[in-house]
Amino acid sequence: MQSTMQDAPLTIKRIINHGEWLYANKKVFTVTPGGVQEATFYEIAKRAERLAAALAELGVAPGDRVGTFMWNNQSHMEAYLAVPAMGAVLHTLNIRLFPEQLAFVINDGGDSVIIIDHTLIPVFAKIRDQIPQVRHIIVSGPDETGALGKTLDYETLIASHQPGFEWPELNERDAAIMCYTSGTTGNPKGVVYSHRSLWLHSLASMTANSIGLCEADRCLLIVPMFHVNAWGVIYTAFFAGTELIMPQMFLQGAPIITMIRELRPTISLGVPTIWNDVLHTAENDPAADFSSLRAILAGGAAVPRHLIEGFRDRYGLRVIQGWGMTETSPLAAVAIPPAGTPRDQEIDYEVKAGRVVAGVELRVVSDAGEVMPRDGKTIGEFEIRGPWITASYYGVDAPDRFHDGWLKTGDIGTLDAEGFMVISDRSKDVIKSGGEWISSVDLESNVMAHPAVFEAAVVAIPDPKWDERPLCCVVLRPGASATAEELREFLAPRVAKWWLPEHWCFIDAIPKTSVGKFDKKVLRALYADGALDVITLD
Ligand code: AMP
Repeated sequence: MQSTMQDAPLTIKRIINHGEWLYANKKVFTVTPGGVQEATFYEIAKRAERLAAALAELGVAPGDRVGTFMWNNQSHMEAYLAVPAMGAVLHTLNIRLFPEQLAFVINDGGDSVIIIDHTLIPVFAKIRDQIPQVRHIIVSGPDETGALGKTLDYETLIASHQPGFEWPELNERDAAIMCYTSGTTGNPKGVVYSHRSLWLHSLASMTANSIGLCEADRCLLIVPMFHVNAWGVIYTAFFAGTELIMPQMFLQGAPIITMIRELRPTISLGVPTIWNDVLHTAENDPAADFSSLRAILAGGAAVPRHLIEGFRDRYGLRVIQGWGMTETSPLAAVAIPPAGTPRDQEIDYEVKAGRVVAGVELRVVSDAGEVMPRDGKTIGEFEIRGPWITASYYGVDAPDRFHDGWLKTGDIGTLDAEGFMVISDRSKDVIKSGGEWISSVDLESNVMAHPAVFEAAVVAIPDPKWDERPLCCVVLRPGASATAEELREFLAPRVAKWWLPEHWCFIDAIPKTSVGKFDKKVLRALYADGALDVITLD
């Protein structure tokens, strides 16, 4: 029997129409070197229409890829609205990729037009001659260098086109955005989001059981718009009436603290390394004021316990942990403690990667492909499926990444009866010592709780007796000191005895990936090259 319901396609156009009408006067604040630039949702929607008209005149047709090489800012948001709504595909380019990877993703994605921020021209100039199919480069901001040859000026294009572009009626299953995985091994792989997947993902971010973004919120968007659509928040904001603060390149602890104090967001999203920097910087800044925030959302990597406790104890601020991947749009689990949890026990849930969000299904599977019990104890690989989880990669076969219609996440851990996931490692980062798993994530989280430690990353190194043992790489806080013995003593009551690392090294900084996560591949390579000064305790 058929339903009687209408079949309105879930497209970006409907999100724009909703936001520019109900929330016309809501604002987007872009932080610039010269001050804060403001625009209303209505103004942004009209400028998106002008941009679409300009792109259409440049020959951008449905299905064509338009790349963006940009910071989080207003023009980038305009591209987020205009490009998918006109039927083309927005390809967000990671501004921190190595040149050869950048050229690869532009060519693989088939971009014909690219919009770039003028401050990024020098980076882009390195690959301009390697991307022959790119017909037009549009520069946002003054292009004074000429390093890219002929370019078009973004503001001139906007000014020379009228609003009123009629958004076409599209198929909700059409491609809207593409984003490449960060590619820690091999070439990055393209994930292509549909209008429908972005729509449903936005609804999920509005539910109170997840991030609960709503009209009362003003969100400081630290997660980059070039990586998994800034966790989908651009569309959620337009749908929910959430104001946005765009930090552009001001991503260090001090400017973020200033933005929070002066622009008073209610929520902010970022990776744990950024929040760690903010917490440490705030310690020496008596003017730090987090009172406007109802929560900060941290995800993309394990959130150490000390970070959650630090914000809670010093500022009464809740850190909400989330888990997701490029392949999962990314929101798939959010660690909100179950209702009724006493305040002093909430931390036991907050340190977990997340609780499954309504709309996706998660399971843990053994090496043999058997589904494991949800008992919070049995370890296996997480597999996930749902309407905003990728079913394939763009242009490549990757059968090893899928299992009976589920995406194999490559994350190892446990799932419990209440739907909370705990991650012990990425499968490629696991430490197998004497046949048993040691969780690098747990070791890091505990070492980072030491007052002298700024950051710590743990990797497996070969061991003749145990196959592998953990090597703990530590960055001390400026002016602080601690020895390997002291740190091991600190860890002793916190983890199993056989987990305690005997190998330690002190380094100036943990290498980071293009999206700010610990880059353990680089650490392992440094170790293999003998470039680390390793101290081995008895
Ligand atoms: P990416 O696709 O680059 O965003 O990376 C996704 C990966 O980040 C996941 O597969 C996890 O390994 C990691 N990740 C994301 N969120 C968390 C979290 N809360 N805890 C631990 N790892 C996480």
